[in-house]
Amino acid sequence: MNFKDLGLSEPILRAIREQGYETPTPIQAQAIPAVLQGGDLLAGAQTGTGKTAGFTLPLLQRLMQATPAPGPGGARGRVAIRALILTPTRELAAQVEESVRTYGQHLPLSSMVMFGGVGMQPQIDRLRRGVDILVATPGRLLDHHQQGTLNLSQVQIFVLDEADRMLDMGFIHDIKKVLAILPARKQSLLFSATFSDDIKALADRLLDRPALIEVARRNATAETIAQKVHPVARDKKKELLAHLIHAGDWHQVLVFTRMKHGANRLAEYLNEHDITAMAIHGNKSQTARTKALSDFKSGALQVLVATDIAARGIDIDQLPHVVNFELPNVPEDYVHRIGRTGRAGARGEAISLVCLDEEIFLKDIEKLTRTSIPREAVPGFEAPPSERAEPIVLGRMTIGVGGTRRNAGGGGGRAGQPAHQRTAPPRAHAARPGGNPPARPARPAQATPSRSRHNPNPRGRG
Ligand code: AMP
Repeated sequence: MNFKDLGLSEPILRAIREQGYETPTPIQAQAIPAVLQGGDLLAGAQTGTGKTAGFTLPLLQRLMQATPAPGPGGARGRVAIRALILTPTRELAAQVEESVRTYGQHLPLSSMVMFGGVGMQPQIDRLRRGVDILVATPGRLLDHHQQGTLNLSQVQIFVLDEADRMLDMGFIHDIKKVLAILPARKQSLLFSATFSDDIKALADRLLDRPALIEVARRNATAETIAQKVHPVARDKKKELLAHLIHAGDWHQVLVFTRMKHGANRLAEYLNEHDITAMAIHGNKSQTARTKALSDFKSGALQVLVATDIAARGIDIDQLPHVVNFELPNVPEDYVHRIGRTGRAGARGEAISLVCLDEEIFLKDIEKLTRTSIPREAVPGFEAPPSERAEPIVLGRMTIGVGGTRRNAGGGGGRAGQPAHQRTAPPRAHAARPGGNPPARPARPAQATPSRSRHNPNPRGRG
């Protein structure tokens, strides 16, 4: 199978060749012909599978087929937005639009990326000049719509990228609003890494007899990713990370922390130890995030420290090292994190620095991925025999009583208050008028956080 067999036109094939792609990835081999046929598509694929080209290449081709030949002097007349790609994060929007430009570089189509956190006026000016393909995050798109600066009445192709992430981030209402302002007749493509009931409901609403495509979750096997756990003393993690980077002479390392302030502190520590590092998270300005990402990609920055939310949609080719400075409390996030390395067949290394408190998370991860990750202690950094597991405080949640149990009753402790200092949670409705006992005893706070709660400080809308 090669790209030519998929029915793509020469200017698109040339752009693909220039990227050095030789064969289509499985998602591309299936999605490209399906989209070219003009029907709707429901695709199960995550970042790293080549899904962006999977929808961008046929989208470009279909737009070209529907583009009238240029008039005298090459003028195309009035250009209207004919394709809309919606993404959950600003970073992903920027990367997808970059792909649109790369794959469409030999075509007379124009594109634009639109997200919040930057001025409206330059976007309005850009829209006025005419755009064929708009890549946007939902919030800013709706802002433009409300102000009357955006006309979506000519949209022929609509792509919802990383739909599951969008729902996780609470964008369902925004998505519904966007659907309401799009023309009813259009080709719709929905990409999602997972298929929850919510995604199925969204697909039912959006798609008309879609083609169904699902490619293997690359994580399930992760053959190209060498995973390793370094058990470490709680207060020696930073030191161990600096040691590994120096000793291994690592030049491009993506490091994950659970919380924003942890990311900042770690980046500061690394900088103090002759390792160039920056933190990237939702509290940073868009300019700062874009700069950090481009410095990291170009190699000017050795380490990028990210939280799970900030890292979504980051696409860095063949990243050699991913480090879990802290394990995520949601095991699926581990899979997403390590998916950043060993992409497109390249070998990568995913290292987790795990202290006793996090054994609980490690257990969940190994259960989910059905693997046993090899442990390798680094001499001088192990926990002393006296160290005991402590509960992990995440915002307003306390998880685990340390070690291997998620929670032993109670739960929901206040930030900074270890479980053993907590008093029993107050019983709700203890004294009700009339003295009736409550229908059910008050439930302790949920010990296992649901996906939507996994980050206590989710970023505002794009
Ligand atoms: P995506 O899943 O869209 O984020 O793409 C993951 C990475 O794979 C991107 O960096 C692409 O440049 C790269 N890629 C996409 N298609 C191919 C292909 N057919 N061959 C090799 N690399 C590809």
